[in-house]
Amino acid sequence: MNTEKVRCLIIGSGPAGFTAAIYTSRANLSPVLYEGIEPGGQLTTTTEIENFPGYPEGISGQAMMEDLKRQALRFGADVRRGTITKAELGSRPFRITVDNDKVIEAESVIISTGATAKYLGLESEMRYRGAGVSACATCDGFFYRKKVVAVVGGGDTACEEATYLASLCRKVYMIVRKDYLRASKAMQQRVNDTENIEVLYGCNTQEILGDEEGVTGARLVRNDGTTFTIDIAGFFLAIGHHPNSELFAGQLELDQEGYIKTVPGTSKTNIEGVFAAGDVKDPHYRQAITAAGSGCIAALDCERFLLANNA
Ligand code: NDP
Repeated sequence: MNTEKVRCLIIGSGPAGFTAAIYTSRANLSPVLYEGIEPGGQLTTTTEIENFPGYPEGISGQAMMEDLKRQALRFGADVRRGTITKAELGSRPFRITVDNDKVIEAESVIISTGATAKYLGLESEMRYRGAGVSACATCDGFFYRKKVVAVVGGGDTACEEATYLASLCRKVYMIVRKDYLRASKAMQQRVNDTENIEVLYGCNTQEILGDEEGVTGARLVRNDGTTFTIDIAGFFLAIGHHPNSELFAGQLELDQEGYIKTVPGTSKTNIEGVFAAGDVKDPHYRQAITAAGSGCIAALDCERFLLANNA
C-alpha cells in the first residue's frame, strides 16, 4: 500500500481541525488535514452564525468554513479530500489509513472528527433541515423570535435549549416520549418555572408538517395511539449527540458516551502524540468558538510534543 510520512496529521475539517491547521502550519509543522465525509463539519448544516466573535453582521456556516480553510491554505496546510478508515495508534509513527488505499505514517495526530447530532429518522425531518428543523438552539434560536417552537427530548440539553428558546420565543413545547424528564432536578426546576414552556409528556413525533417556506407544525402521537397537531415554526432536536470516535475505540480512552478523554485543561489523550480537539472530546459546550479554541490548544500541545521528541 502507498505510504507517506507526515509530521502532523489532522483528522477532521470543522472549526477545531482548521484552527489546528492554521496554528500548526504557521509553526512550520507541515500539517496534512483530511476533511472526512462531511467537509466543513456540522456548521455547514446550520444557517447563519451570529455568535462567533468578529462577525458583527453574522456569517453563513458554509462561508465561515470556506474562510477557515482558505486561512489554513494560506499558511501552507495541505488540506485533502479523504476519509480515515483505520487508525493504528499502538506505536509511533502512528499508521493511519485513508480511504482503505493509502497509509500515512504520522509522528503526531490531532483528532477533530466532531460529533453528529442525533435525528429521529423521519423523512419530513430531512426535508425541512435548515428550513425550520435544527439541532442547535444556540445557533438558530434567534431566527424564531416571538414564534412558537418545539424541542424534542427530555435530557439536560433539551431543558437547556427549551429555556434558552423560551427567552426568545412566544412559546416552547417540549416533546418528551416518557412521562418524566430525564434531566437533572435543577434543569427540571428551570423548565417548570418558565411560564411559556409547555411539556408534552408521553408524546412522539409522527411527522413534521410544512410548506415551501418551511416548518408550520408537527403531528404528534400520544403513547395511547391518539394523534394531535401543534402549530410551530421551528423544530429543535435535542436527543443527544454521537461523538465520531469509533475508529479509536479500544486504543484511546473514551468516556461512557464515546467522547475522547483528555487530560483536563489540555488536548492530550492517553497516547502520547495523539491529541483531541472540538466536539469529539466535548459533550458540554459544542460551540464553534470553543471548538476553534480547543483546536488551538491541540496545535500548541502538538508543537511542544514534536519539539520535545525531535520529531
Ligand atoms: P441525554 O442522552 O441525557 O438525553 C436525551 C433525551 O432525548 C432523553 O430524554 C431521551 O429520552 C430523548 N430521546 C432520545 N432518543 C429519542 C427519540 N428517538 N425520540 C424521542 N426522544 C428521544 O442527552 P443530552 O444531550 O440531554 O445530555 C448528554 C449529556 O450531557 C448528559 O450527561 C447531560 O447531563 C450532559 N449535559 C449537561 C448539561 C449541563 O450540566 N448544563 C447541559 C447539557 C448536557 P429518554 O429519557 O426516554 O431516553
